[in-house]
Amino acid sequence: MSELRACPFCGGEVKLYREPYQGGQQAGINPIGLLCPGCKTTHLFDAHESQVMLKKHWNTRPIEDSLRARVAELEGSLARATEAAYDYDSKRAALGKIGGE
Ligand SMILES: [Zn+2]
Repeated sequence: MSELRACPFCGGEVKLYREPYQGGQQAGINPIGLLCPGCKTTHLFDAHESQVMLKKHWNTRPIEDSLRARVAELEGSLARATEAAYDYDSKRAALGKIGGE
């Protein structure tokens, strides 16, 4: 089930499952859900929801997507700043050698 995004809590692979029938449910329609074997997180969906909609709902995470984009942007800034700092240090060291430090 690789078309499902990983568990947002532990990064594990989630699996599709059906709840066993319990009284009060419409006969023959067991709720469908996703289970993460790693952290035991479950996410139950409406029994009438199709697997396509279930996957769409599970994979739609606008806040997580926004945060991941921001983290990537900040990691890029950190990498550029780190490179600039190393470059500054190496130029400063070279100037020190010229200046007799
Ligand atoms: Zn998990």
